[in-house]
Amino acid sequence: MFYVTTTPASTALQPVPMLDFSRQFAVLRDEVMAAITQVCDSQRFILGPEVASFEKAAAAACGVPFAVGCASGTDALWLAMAALDIGPGDVVVTTPFTFFASVSSILRCGATPVLADIDPRTFNISPSATFEALQKHAAPSHRLAIMPVHLYGQCADLDELQTAATHHSAMIVEDAAQAFGALWNGIPAGALGDTAAFSFYPTKNLAAFGDAGMATTKSAALDERLRSLRAHGMKVRYFHEEVGWNSRLDSLQAAVLEVKLRYVDEGNRRRRSLAARYDTLFTAAGLTGASTAEGIVLPYTDPRAEHIFHQYVVRVPRRDDLRAFLTAHKIGTEIYYPLPLHLQEALRSLGYKAGDFPETERAATEVLALPMYPELREDEQDTVVEAIRQFFG
Ligand SMILES: *Cc1c(COP(=O)(O)O)cnc(C)c1O
Repeated sequence: MFYVTTTPASTALQPVPMLDFSRQFAVLRDEVMAAITQVCDSQRFILGPEVASFEKAAAAACGVPFAVGCASGTDALWLAMAALDIGPGDVVVTTPFTFFASVSSILRCGATPVLADIDPRTFNISPSATFEALQKHAAPSHRLAIMPVHLYGQCADLDELQTAATHHSAMIVEDAAQAFGALWNGIPAGALGDTAAFSFYPTKNLAAFGDAGMATTKSAALDERLRSLRAHGMKVRYFHEEVGWNSRLDSLQAAVLEVKLRYVDEGNRRRRSLAARYDTLFTAAGLTGASTAEGIVLPYTDPRAEHIFHQYVVRVPRRDDLRAFLTAHKIGTEIYYPLPLHLQEALRSLGYKAGDFPETERAATEVLALPMYPELREDEQDTVVEAIRQFFG
C-alpha cells in the first residue's frame, strides 16, 4: 500500500467558472422547452402573442404601464432616445465607465455624448459632475438628456440626477441593461426616467437565448412611438409614417424570457445573499480595507438602492497579477471595464484625453468582477475567497 500524503486544503483549489448557464437551464428546461415548442407549433416567429404577453409581464415587473420588446439592449437605448426625438445637436450626458453601447447609441441618434466622471464608491455617474456638464452645455438651441447607467445592478443616484434634470429641463434615459429588478427608493429601474433600456443578452440577470432587449416608459405616446420605430415606422402595414428600423423581438425569445421572468426576483435575492456572503468571507479573512492601499475594497451599496448584484465587483491591489493567478487556478473573473470609453480608439473624435476622468481611470485599473450568478455554490465562493487569500498571503 502506498502512503498517501494528504494535500493541504489550502492548495486544493477547484475550478470555479465565472458563469455557468447550464445550471439554470437544467432547472428550467421543461418549462422553457414547452414555451419554445408552443411557438414552433404556432409557426408565428415575429412579434405575436408571446411578445405581447412578455411585454405586459415585464412592464408590470418594472412598475410601468408600457414595455416594448426589441432586438437588443443597444437597440433599446437607440429606440428610447429616438422616441424622445433626441437627435443632431442635442447633448446626452453619460458616464465613461460603462459598456460601449451607452455611448454608441447616442452617436447613432446623431446626438452628442458628453461624459461625466463617476462616484468612486458606487461606480455610477457622479451627480455633481453631471450637473457641471449640463451647466456647460446648456443652450436654447438644443435639448439636454442624462443617461444614467445602473452599473453592476445598482441604480445611479436618481434623487440628485432628477434634481439636475429638473434644473436644466433635461430628459432622463436610463441604461438599465444590468439592473432588471433593481430599485431606487423602492421604485424599479425602468420607472425612474422618461424612458429606459434593458438588455436580455445571455449574460444579463434576465437572459434570452440570444440577443433581445426592451424599452420602458410611462407615456402612452412614447409607447406608440417606440412600437412604430422598432418596425420601420409603420402602424399600418406598408404605410410608413417615419423612418424607423427593424428591431423586433422574436417570439421565441419572448417565450423564453417570459418563463425566466418568473424566476428573476428569486435570482436577484440569491445574488444579494451571495454578495453578503462574499462580504462576510473577505472580512473574516482579514483581506478588506477602505482603499486598495489597505486591501480589498468591498462593493458599496447606497442605502436608497436595492442592489441586485448583476456583478459583484471589488477593487483590489495588484489587480492584473491577481487575475492571472486566479486564471491559472481556473477561477473565472472579468474586468468591467478595462478601457474607459473616453480612451477608446473609436471615440477619439469626442476629443477627450487621459486624465480627463481620474475616478474612472483609477477604477478601470482596480476593479475585478468575481463569479456571481444565482446558481453559484457556496463551496465555490469559499474557493474564490481562499484563492485570493493565498495570492495575498
Ligand atoms: C449589455 C449592455 C448594453 C447593451 O446590450 P446588448 O443587448 O448587448 O445590445 C448596454 N449598456 C450596458 C450598460 C450593458 O451592460
